[in-house]
Amino acid sequence: MDDTQNVGGRDRLVRFLLAAGLSIAAVRWLQSGKRVRGALAGVGALVFGFNATTGYCGVNDALDVDTTGDGVSIEFDESDGGSASSADSAVTADAGATQVREHYLTCADCGEPIVAGQARGPNSEGDIVHDACA
Ligand SMILES: [Zn+2]
Repeated sequence: MDDTQNVGGRDRLVRFLLAAGLSIAAVRWLQSGKRVRGALAGVGALVFGFNATTGYCGVNDALDVDTTGDGVSIEFDESDGGSASSADSAVTADAGATQVREHYLTCADCGEPIVAGQARGPNSEGDIVHDACA
């Protein structure tokens, strides 16, 4: 049975979505009186639905295409996503560091930012405040 399957992975998912979309389109066209279009969409839905459920496509067979190995490319996608999300977390970490730094430069007493050049220092609790606030 495996030998007859040539639709897999993303190809199968795409065909399933096409089948679902064409089914909706077929119903709408048939309801609005567009029978030829509705019938064609219905046939398409059946064909793609057949491909998706059985994992076999006559066109793929004729073209010697086999997408059952798509799992490999999906794994590549996952590793891409992993590196992307680690880059995201690096950005987040930078943003966090910036926030900490901004917080550090905020007067713990009056809450106003301590601008460069303003006299500042730790108060009795060790928080950085304006000299005027300490
Ligand atoms: Zn202050």
